[in-house]
Amino acid sequence: MNVLVINCGSSSLKYQLINMADESVLAKGLVERIGIEGSILKHEAEGKDKAVIQQPMENHKVALSLVLDALVDKNHGAIKDMSEISAVGHRVVHGGEKFSGSVVINDDVIKALEECIELAPLHNPPNLMGIAACKELMSTVPMVGVFDTAFHQTMPKSSYIYPLPYELYEKYGIRRYGFHGTSHRYVSERAADMLGKDIKDLKIVTCHLGNGASLAAIDGGKSVDTSMGFTPLEGLVMGTRSGDIDPAIVTFIMEKEKLDIEAVNNLLNKKSGVLGISGVSSDFRDIEGAAKEGNERAQLALDIFNSRVRKYIANFAAVMSGVDAVVFTAGLGENSASNREEICKGLAFMGINIDSAKNNVRGKEVIVSTDESKVKVLVVPTNEELVIARDTLELVK
Ligand code: AMP
Repeated sequence: MNVLVINCGSSSLKYQLINMADESVLAKGLVERIGIEGSILKHEAEGKDKAVIQQPMENHKVALSLVLDALVDKNHGAIKDMSEISAVGHRVVHGGEKFSGSVVINDDVIKALEECIELAPLHNPPNLMGIAACKELMSTVPMVGVFDTAFHQTMPKSSYIYPLPYELYEKYGIRRYGFHGTSHRYVSERAADMLGKDIKDLKIVTCHLGNGASLAAIDGGKSVDTSMGFTPLEGLVMGTRSGDIDPAIVTFIMEKEKLDIEAVNNLLNKKSGVLGISGVSSDFRDIEGAAKEGNERAQLALDIFNSRVRKYIANFAAVMSGVDAVVFTAGLGENSASNREEICKGLAFMGINIDSAKNNVRGKEVIVSTDESKVKVLVVPTNEELVIARDTLELVK
C-alpha cells in the first residue's frame, strides 16, 4: 500500500510517496513558486533520473496535477497508475482545540479546518488548498489530516493558559497550542527505542532546531509543555523570528517607528531572530561562518540562540521535575555539532555531559552523551513525512 504525503505552503507543495510495506520512499519532490512567475517542479523517484518541470502553475491544483503526472510518468515515475496510491496524508498546521489526533478528512473536518484559519492565517489556507486539489483530482482516494498542534493537546492548563484575562481564552481561543508536534512525537519515540526504554518511563526534552525552532517537554510520551505558543512566534530565537520578548516592546516600536500591525508583525516574524541580531543571514551556516571570521554580531546571535535553548532545557526539566534525555533534531540540531556542544556545555550541573568525539556526527541517529552522563543526549533526524504516512495508514486501513 502506497501513501502520498502532501505538505502545502502558500506557494509550495512538498510530497513523498511512501511504500508502507517497508516504509521506503518511492518518490519525492517539491513544487515552488506556485501562483507566481517561475513555477518549478523538482521530482525524483528511486532508481530513475531526476525530472525538473518548469511551466506556469497558477494554483495548487495545477501543481498537484503535474506531480501526479510525474508519479506515473514512464521515465521518471514510481508507479504505473493512480490506483497504486491508496491514501493521501496531509500535513495541517493548526487543528485548534478540535483535533488532538489525526483524522480522516471529510466535509465536517474541512469545515472545522476553515474555522481554524483565524488561528493560522498563513498556514491553514494553503493546507486547505492542497486538500481541495486532492479532492478534485483524486476524489475516490481517502485523505487524512495530521496536525502540527495535535501532539501538544495533552498539555495541562497550567502550561497552555496565558496570564491574560481568562475571557480572551474563552472568546478567541488565545492559549498556547504549540507546533512541530509531529516532529517532537517522532524523535521522542525514536529516542526511547534507541535507549531501549519504554517511553512511559522517560522524561524527555526534544529540541527541534531548524529555521523555525521549538522545544517540548515530553513526560511519559505526552507533551506537557512546549516553547511555541498561540503562534509559532513564541519561544526560542529563530532564523528570522524573535521568540520571547517583553510584550511592551511591540507597542513601543509601533509608536517610535510608526509601524502598523502588518509592519510590526513582519518585523517580528521576518526581520528578527538571528538575522536581526547578526545582520548577516537567517541561515545558521552563514552565521557560523561569519562568527568564525570574527564577526562579533554573528557570534552574539549564536550566543543568544544557544543561551535561550539552554534556558528552555533547564526550564522544561523543572516542569517535569527531572529529565532523562535531551534530543536534538531538524536542520541545525541534526547537523551542527558545535551548536549542540555549546548548548550542552552550560548544563553539566544538571548531569548533561556531551562526548565531543561521539558528537562529531551529522544527520544520523546517535547517542552523543558520555557513558557516565546522567542525562542521555541524542541526535535523531526527524521524519515528519513518515509519521504522517503511518497515521494515514492506521486510519484508512
Ligand atoms: P530546517 O528548517 O530544519 O530545514 O533547518 C534549516 C536550518 O538548519 C538552516 O538555518 C540551516 O542553516 C541549518 N543547518 C543545516 N545544516 C547545517 C549545518 N551543517 N550546520 C549548521 N547549520 C545547519
